[in-house]
Amino acid sequence: MATVGILGAGAMGLAAAHHALKAGHRVIVFEADRVPGGMAAHFDFDGLSIERFYHFVCKADRPTFALLEELGIASAMRWRPTSMGYFMDGRLHRWGDPLALLRFPGVGLFDKLRYGWQMFRATRRTDWSDLETVTARDWIEAEAGTRVYDRLWRRLFELKFFEFADEVSAAWIWTRIKRVGTSRRSLMQEELGYIEGGSETLVRALVASIESQGGEIRLGTAAREVVCADGVVTGVRTDAGVVPVDAVISTMPTPLVAELVPTLPEAWKAQYDSIRNIGVVCVVLKLARSVTPHFWVNINDPEIEVPGIIEFSNLRPVADTVVYVPFYMPQTHPKFSRDDAAFVAESLACVRRLNPSIGEADVLGTRVGRLRYAQPVCESGFLAKIPPIRTPISGLQIADTSFYYPEDRGISESVRLARAMAVRVEG
Ligand SMILES: Cc1cc2nc3c(=O)[nH]c(=O)nc-3n(C[C@H](O)[C@H](O)[C@H](O)COP(=O)(O)OP(=O)(O)OC[C@H]3O[C@@H](n4cnc5c(N)ncnc54)[C@H](O)[C@@H]3O)c2cc1C
Repeated sequence: MATVGILGAGAMGLAAAHHALKAGHRVIVFEADRVPGGMAAHFDFDGLSIERFYHFVCKADRPTFALLEELGIASAMRWRPTSMGYFMDGRLHRWGDPLALLRFPGVGLFDKLRYGWQMFRATRRTDWSDLETVTARDWIEAEAGTRVYDRLWRRLFELKFFEFADEVSAAWIWTRIKRVGTSRRSLMQEELGYIEGGSETLVRALVASIESQGGEIRLGTAAREVVCADGVVTGVRTDAGVVPVDAVISTMPTPLVAELVPTLPEAWKAQYDSIRNIGVVCVVLKLARSVTPHFWVNINDPEIEVPGIIEFSNLRPVADTVVYVPFYMPQTHPKFSRDDAAFVAESLACVRRLNPSIGEADVLGTRVGRLRYAQPVCESGFLAKIPPIRTPISGLQIADTSFYYPEDRGISESVRLARAMAVRVEG
């Protein structure tokens, strides 16, 4: 059997290692960070172990459930009735069910009915071929009208994608609408899931499985180059030298690939380089009181430059209130290089605008997580941009979260793709 080098110990890399070991291969995982988990990693928030970036599970996340079952931790899944809010015109409104839409101010009845019908049909749709070449904006405007787009969607897209807002694919937003829209107990009641102990429970179980099967995880060990000879993978170069391998599965963000594999044909490198990403600066607040009763609040307010906040403790009960305030933006945005204190101050101003009763004394702790590649920008026609996972270099497979388009980045899709890549490794 082959010796497989896996680049990245996020959900995709760890799951690929787990499956490759099960298939009988030898596995070495290389991870640049000092902890495993990638975007799903935890940190110690003054005694509370919690994700750097919020993670919820939906009922459609079947590959996650299959993996939890296989790892013997299926009983760790928890489901909670949750709700959404929408902060607009200085007020918090209920959001996310038909009655909330009917009561929402500033949108006419006819527009609401058109929009409700569009959303309902989106949750029933299975074929996305006609959405692939249309932008999200054009799709929403065509089916629900420009007033609906302007009032309910425009600012959310602009504060996440900035200059790319009008390019985002309709197929991509459709999968998000469908994934969350079908995670319900009933038409009126959303139900979301979390893993007991957080995403770290899954990360730990994968690490334990890899180690018990004789796999090796090298933390703090960045892969510098995939070494090839005569079009065949021969090794992984790290700062400590070249480790001989027969196959490589790279799960690193694709913008890093061209430099990682210098022997790839130039046309392939250009294809990886053309996949754009936005970054995120995600502030995590620990508070003594709740901001709103909702798990997720969309925000459209001229004073707030985030598209929403996630009150995670309204999903996963923990001792205090935990709120994530994500500032998505292209790395080139001047705000991205601000220091952590500036983002914390802006986050606190945001939660106080939503709930003015939150005072200085209610702030128990703050942390800031940053990612340069947090979200691929999947424009209309994106499907044609994704290179095949199998590269022209024999033994080398490459994928990241953009490869399961039109699905949005998510643990479930990452572990699904990981299995598919592990199965393709030749012995
Ligand atoms: C703010 C935010 C919120 C999210 N919310 C949810 C959610 O609610 N539900 C959900 O399911 N998903 C959510 N996700 C997405 C989910 O976290 C990801 O889809 C998933 O964790 C991706 O796993 P991955 O292994 O594919 O990628 P990553 O986790 O990005 O793993 C790639 C790994 O490669 C490593 N690496 C990079 N360069 C090198 C190198 N040179 N050598 C070795 N290693 C390297 C990185 O350190 C990283 O560990 C969220 C993500 C973010 C950022």
